[in-house]
Amino acid sequence: MSKNIEIMYSNGVNLSSVVAAEPTGGYQTETSQNQWIEVLVDCPGCSDLFIYRLPAQLEIKPGDILSVPFGTQQVGAVAIRLLAQPNIDIPLDKIREVEDVVSRGFFPPHYWELLNRVAAYYYTPLMQVIRVALPPGLLGRSQRRLRLTSWGKAEIPPILNPTAQKILELLQKQASGDYSYYYIQQKVKAAYRGTRELLRLGLVESYLEPPRLTQPKLQKAVTLLDNEGDLTPRQKEIVEVLRRRGGELWQSELLQICSTSTSTLKALVEKGCIVIEEREILRREQNPLVAGDQAKSLTLAQSQALATIQSLQGFTQVLLHGVTGSGKTEVYLQAIAPLLQQGKSALVLVPEIGLTPQLTDRFSARFGKKVSVYHSALSDGERYDTWRQMLTGEPQVIIGTRSAIFAPLPNLGLIILDEEHDSSFKQDTPIPTYHARSVAQWRAELENCPLILGSATPSLESWISFSTSETNPIPPTYYLSLPERINSRPLPPVEIIDMRQELQAGNRSIFSRPLQTALQELQDKKQQGILFIHRRGHSTFVSCRSCGYVLECPHCDVSLAYHHSEEGAPQLLRCHYCNYGRSHPQNCPECGSPYLKFFGSGTQRVAQELNRQFPNLRLIRFDSDTTRTKGAHRTLLTQFANGEADLLVGTQMLTKGLDLPQVTLVGVVAADGLLHLSDYRASERAFQTLTQVAGRAGRGEDPGRVIMQTYTPEHPVIEAVQKHDYQSFSTGELEQRQALNYPPYGRLILLRISSLDPIQVQNTAQIIATSLNRFADLEILGPAPASILRVANRYRWQILIKFPADALPNLPNWEEIRELCPASVSLTIDVDPINIM
Ligand code: ADP
Ligand code: ZN
Ligand code: ZN
Repeated sequence: MSKNIEIMYSNGVNLSSVVAAEPTGGYQTETSQNQWIEVLVDCPGCSDLFIYRLPAQLEIKPGDILSVPFGTQQVGAVAIRLLAQPNIDIPLDKIREVEDVVSRGFFPPHYWELLNRVAAYYYTPLMQVIRVALPPGLLGRSQRRLRLTSWGKAEIPPILNPTAQKILELLQKQASGDYSYYYIQQKVKAAYRGTRELLRLGLVESYLEPPRLTQPKLQKAVTLLDNEGDLTPRQKEIVEVLRRRGGELWQSELLQICSTSTSTLKALVEKGCIVIEEREILRREQNPLVAGDQAKSLTLAQSQALATIQSLQGFTQVLLHGVTGSGKTEVYLQAIAPLLQQGKSALVLVPEIGLTPQLTDRFSARFGKKVSVYHSALSDGERYDTWRQMLTGEPQVIIGTRSAIFAPLPNLGLIILDEEHDSSFKQDTPIPTYHARSVAQWRAELENCPLILGSATPSLESWISFSTSETNPIPPTYYLSLPERINSRPLPPVEIIDMRQELQAGNRSIFSRPLQTALQELQDKKQQGILFIHRRGHSTFVSCRSCGYVLECPHCDVSLAYHHSEEGAPQLLRCHYCNYGRSHPQNCPECGSPYLKFFGSGTQRVAQELNRQFPNLRLIRFDSDTTRTKGAHRTLLTQFANGEADLLVGTQMLTKGLDLPQVTLVGVVAADGLLHLSDYRASERAFQTLTQVAGRAGRGEDPGRVIMQTYTPEHPVIEAVQKHDYQSFSTGELEQRQALNYPPYGRLILLRISSLDPIQVQNTAQIIATSLNRFADLEILGPAPASILRVANRYRWQILIKFPADALPNLPNWEEIRELCPASVSLTIDVDPINIM
């Protein structure tokens, strides 16, 4: 320990043992009694917090960007929290002082508290949380620089100490009076002291230059000045154009509008009539201009929901449960409008990028330029600029995916999670394995604003917490329902096709006869359809094509998964919860039929099949393969909306929020692919997905219909989807969850263990499981291999930990558990996992 401390003395003081979960000291914003500050050092490989002394003359707030001495360098740092007492036991005079504040108020006040909560709850070092929250490059290796102030540029400096003198001369010799601090350190010994003096005297200023990648983009702008001299008629014209456009234009635009040249503009500059300056332009993703749009007059249910939402004060939670096509989005829009007028901002989270173009267009049509999109598919520059646009504090609407929950809007008035049940709000990897809904709850609490969770098929977690809200009034929760579609349009009838009967009748095609007829008729009727294919890599299950029997684990209530191992290895069926395994049978254990089938045919195969059977049907494939390039979602959806195809063939992506009024037919090729996943959430997810995909039909004038193919028509999920019956589905499902103590009744933590070495990972998993067995109040399932045992040459095992949701159990010390892993084995702690396979 003492050796460790010695190293740390030279760097500030390392607090690695108290990172993240340490609640001591609280988050004080009053600076008067605080003399110490924890900072995050901007230095590659440093993920710990360090403590520094606050100089008397500096006022520092969390979120300020600082410059601190670190080892022999001066580096950038982010102020995290102020402390009245150093929370580590070392001589006070060993703690070094913050040198300066480089940039103030970079983050909104509660921002760091939110990040700390995420770090603590998900057992993740704070630095990892910051990596998720901040745009890439913001905390990269930013460069500290020194430049002369105008006072420093003046020739006669006061009497300086020799180092200060040297630095000043160095800077004065450089044309722009600006050098990186690193360079100055190379040139002048003990530059630190000299710099302090120059800073104190106001001869130089220090600043942090953002890393190259994300430098602001500059463009020339022309500004009109007041003094009109003696101008030629041509010059007068240009001045007039500028005046009419508000006195300022980008140079490129002005040149274009006036069909003139830069030399003409130069002449105007020389006459003192205009100035041309480099200006920063913000690279925000450009939305194509959309026609203005007025608020719709609301239905009764919508206006009741809106009235409740507008009456909310402070931190409250709303579940907006509206069937597909009931007009939830219109409620969001009208809830946001008055907030913008009050100078507040709103954050709207959506599950996937696939659905943002349409939704974004609806928001842009209503709120114009106040809407920005923020998601990980933006370029680094765009993310960086959108970030700074948010930090301006101007009222705005941010629409984004999961990570946008960390959007640094200073004046947040409302958070909305649309399709709140969607599993893409959960991050599986890398850490922190956060759920945007949980983070949104914390954020709404910290910002003291309402949170709206919207869905046609609420997650059972939300459903249960809102339906029992009377016993749990803090924070206030509201259940709002939109039970009907707009204009009382009916929900589409759902026809269930028993594929076993199709086989008996001699139809071996993947399309049933009713679906074939419906596809055939699309073109004649000039209507459009959506064909949904469930495809998930290797998560195949095995079932009998003759009797529908699904091979299940005798110890757990889940289906067995086909195990994908090396070529030539025996075919195995395995349970991913308890590791029960058996060989793959030749014949169906139930009826003896040899037609055992792996499910999971992808969109590509289905598209080929469509082309073969329906050569005239024009189709567009809409899945992660065809939407990889930027803007592809929008292009494909626009083509489809323009009637350039009859059928949209795709995966999960098309279940989410698409509002295409001309779609009348929805086909589901094999509902079974969703039903028998080896996961306790399979039923819930299947119900949600199938209900959502069915909800794409009949949203416009023409009535819709849904054709759903399955080998198990009697499955409770299929029956509930057919009747559009959320209530009875959730009641039955919750009973099963309660019996087995699964969420939302119990909580889960999944340990994912992986290594290149198959033996070592298995042994480590065993050792960890044994050590966890000490905890009497934890139920340990496994260790078991992950369903795809090997990914990118890594072998993966997992351990599932189950414990009661209400009582905080005696949880292990995760650092101790981590220490059980040899260097070659990595461990991820997934808190509240969604994907267990
Ligand atoms: P949801 O999000 O609940 O699936 P949407 O908000 O997409 O439903 O609404 C479905 C359709 O009904 C959209 O085309 C929308 O423009 C339209 N709509 C919503 N509210 C109204 C209203 N009050 N009057 C007329 N049309 C509406
Ligand atoms: Zn069978
Ligand atoms: Zn099992």
